[in-house]
Amino acid sequence: MNSSKVAVVGAGLAGLYTAQALHAAGVDVLLLEGRNRLGGRILTVDDGGTPSDDGFDLGPSWFWPEMQPTMAELVTELGLDSFIQHSTGDVVFERMSRERPQRFSPAYENQQSMRVSGGTGAVVRALAARLPDERIRLGTQVRAMALRQHGVELSLRGTDGLSGTAQSMVGPMVEIHDSTTKSGRAAFFGFLGVGAEQRKSVGEEALKQACVDQLGRLFGPAALTPRATLLKDWAGDPFTATADDRTGGDHPTPGSSRWVGGEWERRLVMAGSETSPSEPGYLAGAVVAAKQAVSEILTRLETK
Ligand SMILES: Cc1cc2nc3c(=O)[nH]c(=O)nc-3n(C[C@H](O)[C@H](O)[C@H](O)COP(=O)(O)OP(=O)(O)OC[C@H]3O[C@@H](n4cnc5c(N)ncnc54)[C@H](O)[C@@H]3O)c2cc1C
Repeated sequence: MNSSKVAVVGAGLAGLYTAQALHAAGVDVLLLEGRNRLGGRILTVDDGGTPSDDGFDLGPSWFWPEMQPTMAELVTELGLDSFIQHSTGDVVFERMSRERPQRFSPAYENQQSMRVSGGTGAVVRALAARLPDERIRLGTQVRAMALRQHGVELSLRGTDGLSGTAQSMVGPMVEIHDSTTKSGRAAFFGFLGVGAEQRKSVGEEALKQACVDQLGRLFGPAALTPRATLLKDWAGDPFTATADDRTGGDHPTPGSSRWVGGEWERRLVMAGSETSPSEPGYLAGAVVAAKQAVSEILTRLETK
């Protein structure tokens, strides 16, 4: 993960408030949330269960300004409206199963219960608006914390349900995979769908930026700020490719091409993945070709 000055674990009201206040104070802060949404126990949804601007609170609903001024102050500070809990009319009381429910006039309530207009989710939205997207990482569960000499190291586990695999017909990458190392160093790997000539004319920096933008589109804002971007254009490496390869296409098809002819046939044995009769262009092809070359060389040496 990024090394931020302060990591806030959990984006409930407490974590969100903390993160945005630290950010406002100029602190390099990263807010990590295990769920795929902000708010924690605050959850305001519409009748389809989707988070809503004018929904129903399934978690906290009320605050009590006189008893708990802190919450009232926050609602005011965030510029949010609030309204008094609807309570006009009689209260129904069900005492026993064999009795009908009874109505009675409610006792006078000292403390007014207030609701936030739009639901308490409005508080979450207003606080989140104060924090840039790249300061928030959803779907990131903190699994462990370890004290290190210069700070605290967090072990994270992604819970956002995305595998890191993507396919794109937009590009520049056409196929993307999670390339995280066994030790947990996170990375994406992608195959470019842009031809060698076009890659050259676009230039490395612009191409890298287009790839990062694409990762942001596909995997969210956190992907927009990688620690590093590495680009290896094999077509430009003379130890791998020739000028002819720049217009080349996919993996070669398996064939029985004779790679060496004439006088050279007795002296030269070719062994490369592309010369393999099976799986050419793959690792397996390289091994098949090598085995074939070894057998051919040994046979020739024996018959000499
Ligand atoms: C049904 C209900 C009704 C309530 N009604 C009221 C009310 O009317 N008025 C009132 O004042 N209070 C009410 N409350 C209490 C109020 O909801 C909580 O006090 C408050 O929301 C707690 O906020 P928090 O940020 O401390 O914790 P939480 O909202 O629980 O936030 C903790 C966050 O940490 C995340 N997290 C946990 N573990 C990890 C991890 N390992 N890695 C990363 N993230 C992690 C969680 O996903 C969560 O988002 C109610 C609560 C419930 C459930």
